[in-house]
Amino acid sequence: MQKITKILVANRGEIALRIIRACRELEIKSVVVFSEADVNGIWVARADESYPIVGNAIDVYLKYDKIIDIAKRTKCDAIHPGYGFLSESAEFAQACMDKDLIFIGPKPHHIELFGDKMASKVAMKKIGVPVLEGTSSPIIDEEEGRKIALEIGYPIIIKAAFGGGGRGMRIVHFADDFSKMFASATNESIKYFGKGDVFIEKYVQNPRHIEIQIIADKYANVLHLGERDCSIQRRHQKVIEITPSPLLNDEVRQKLCTISVNAMKKLGYESVGTVEFLVDERNNIYFIEMNTRVQVEHPVTEIVTGVDIIQRMIEIAAGDKLKYLQSEIQFRGYAIEFRINSEDPQNNFMPTAGVVKKYLTPGGPGVRLDTSLYSGYETPTCYDSMLAKLIVWALDWDGAVAKARRALDEFHIEGFKTNIPLHREIVRDEGFKEAKFDTGYLDANMNMFN
Ligand code: ADP
Repeated sequence: MQKITKILVANRGEIALRIIRACRELEIKSVVVFSEADVNGIWVARADESYPIVGNAIDVYLKYDKIIDIAKRTKCDAIHPGYGFLSESAEFAQACMDKDLIFIGPKPHHIELFGDKMASKVAMKKIGVPVLEGTSSPIIDEEEGRKIALEIGYPIIIKAAFGGGGRGMRIVHFADDFSKMFASATNESIKYFGKGDVFIEKYVQNPRHIEIQIIADKYANVLHLGERDCSIQRRHQKVIEITPSPLLNDEVRQKLCTISVNAMKKLGYESVGTVEFLVDERNNIYFIEMNTRVQVEHPVTEIVTGVDIIQRMIEIAAGDKLKYLQSEIQFRGYAIEFRINSEDPQNNFMPTAGVVKKYLTPGGPGVRLDTSLYSGYETPTCYDSMLAKLIVWALDWDGAVAKARRALDEFHIEGFKTNIPLHREIVRDEGFKEAKFDTGYLDANMNMFN
């Protein structure tokens, strides 16, 4: 069995720090590469070794020849891609393997399959996973799209085939709006993903977004670590994530977990992954996509199960067997994660930036903070606006909400606006407290929160 002794972390920000922490506990050395904009990143200081890469702030984290070269020169045995950047590049995973580096993630062909939402729906449907009615090849021609939309029946959703982050998606309620929406989905898809391929599927009214965390080793052992409810979204982007889902009944929960585990077994999937579903008001379930990487919201699962997802991911990549049986995974209490973003909720969520002047962090029982912020840090403007993840835990739902209220009140970041005030209002909302939310909750209540 190949042992990992040194890992290059091909990422930045809180996830780079999270991976470095996992390495430290496993007594594995860590190496980071960083851009000029990230020279003051706390993860750069915390890694055992750090190497600057010259170039555009984003490109630095995508230059995989350079990253692989540094990994080889510094005698790393493996590369952890985190999320975003190269994490879902099958080409990068293959390039690592070609250079005898372990890519800490799934096999390239699985990354490739699930990187294409349409192809993955087709593959999952074939093995018995319920999917939404929709097209199975890209729609290039508007007229063809219009015909298909009529067949499926409005409302429909147009989606970027290679999309993510809620981008390149347009809901169409009436045939008259089809042209306009088709053009804007295609244009946004080209802008963000370099490809204009879109597909059409039935739009589900008022669903919940429920996803299943999977962890699988090289020996066909596949476990689930329960679900996360990611229904609290702004413009299809997750803002708050919860586990377990407060209103999901046990039968549906079991069904989602079983379907996900069986699908991953059939496909021979390895590493961690998340199978995402929509659950409608009648508890019908539909697979929407699979993410072949560690997700932003993994800490809530870690807290209720006690499983360190990043550490296990590293061990599996090294060829270890999974440490646990499904029956040994225990779920305890409720965890909620709040994404703290540098954006102004009172000014249309415009991105903000600046120097962290006053910095008071929440603590006490049941509070975890994953962040790369510190007092005096100047936030770069060129990256994602998520700066911190506040995670709270309590034995029951009401306790978790109370904990969240208290922890959010304790959190003060001065120097620029953040979305903390929005989170404070959400946790005081009766709808939230009673767990009466679906994917439309936040957008529908935005006026109330402003
Ligand atoms: P992305 O990869 O951009 O995050 P997803 O396919 O995961 O896109 O969908 C993100 C969100 O968009 C979902 O959580 C849900 O709120 C909404 N959504 C996606 N597909 C549908 C659909 N067919 N019907 C209703 N809402 C949808």
